Amino acid sequence: MSYTNQKIGVLGGGQLGKMLGQSASMMGLQMHVLDTDKSFPAAASCMSFTEGSFKDYDAIMAFAADKDIITVEIELVNTDALHDLEKQGKQVYPQPHLLDMIKDKGLQKQFYQERSLVTSDFVLVNDAAQIKQWVLDGKLSVPFVQKARTDGYDGRGVHIVRHITDLQNLLDVKSVIEPLVDIDREIAVIVARNPQGDISSFPVVDMEFHPTANLVEYLFSPSRVNEEVQEQAIKLAESIAKEMKIVGLLAVELFLTKDNELLINEVAPRPHNSGHHTIEANITSQYEQHLRAICGMPLGDTALTQPAVMVNLLGAAGYTGEAHYENIDQCLATSGAHIHLYGKSITKPYRKMGHATIVDQDLDTAIEKATFVKDTLKIISKN
Ligand code: ADP
Repeated sequence: MSYTNQKIGVLGGGQLGKMLGQSASMMGLQMHVLDTDKSFPAAASCMSFTEGSFKDYDAIMAFAADKDIITVEIELVNTDALHDLEKQGKQVYPQPHLLDMIKDKGLQKQFYQERSLVTSDFVLVNDAAQIKQWVLDGKLSVPFVQKARTDGYDGRGVHIVRHITDLQNLLDVKSVIEPLVDIDREIAVIVARNPQGDISSFPVVDMEFHPTANLVEYLFSPSRVNEEVQEQAIKLAESIAKEMKIVGLLAVELFLTKDNELLINEVAPRPHNSGHHTIEANITSQYEQHLRAICGMPLGDTALTQPAVMVNLLGAAGYTGEAHYENIDQCLATSGAHIHLYGKSITKPYRKMGHATIVDQDLDTAIEKATFVKDTLKIISKN
């Protein structure tokens, strides 16, 4: 069967699905999407959009019936359906057992620990009461970080306990407890692996987080950490992909500590926010690479063609309603700025409404332009 005859089904119709669809269309691949509402971003770029929930077993089974390859743009999907589809002989990438493990931050941490892949120490707890008891008993001391084992994303589900008073706001769920790491820089590596076992990584990027929204605000490529650390980060990311035998992309987020130690924070088995810039700044984009990997094609060249800064375009605080993009012309007039709007009709505070990638031969100039775009483009509602 030729690549172009296969039907690819994607669970999730957000912006990652939209950009995946743009690559699929370029490559002549047939991509179809399942998500709850036809107004979602990916509807604009796929061959067909089926309305239904990717959390619903029956909806996934019906959607997948005529597809050859199933993939995801979000982890929080019903994996019972994916296991059954795999048993039926469908190609399901990333593999369902990996999704089960990655979705649970506790299992993810155990995976690293069992293989001596460096991550911060951790303990698993059942609820808020147990955490408080451990603090009272002296088994646990502040500061520490509480992470919900499941259902957290974009910083939701992460609670930093710096002082005893922060214990009041503990999440009352099964959690991972980690030491508060003295982070110098947060970096990411996206690795791709195809079914033949070929592996290829994108160059390391630096991430900077929004102070209140806990989302990636800026991304810098190339990374400014020293070459040796970058090589180590790529090696570490590739070891995880090899150990998992994952097919598709694996985005690996790492902390570089003030003591120059690299620690794995977490992974995502899909295209990732830290790879948006690859559309304009690398020979192959992460979206094309994911499709190449899941279709069993040769992997593409990941080299950076020019420095880039990516900035997420978030809904302004205080506005909920139909989205308006103020001052967009000044941003479009900025040379090297590629403005991506996801086509979400409603803006909400800190909602990811789009991103801009600014390419420039000089990274510092790209940073200046990205700051201009971020400060100038206001996403608000008028009602
Ligand atoms: P999410 O799945 O919501 O992205 P993360 O585990 O990546 O959650 O945590 C979100 C952010 O919280 C990280 O990018 C980092 O800035 C901060 N953080 C997470 N764990 C720690 C830690 N152990 N020490 C210090 N900061 C942390």
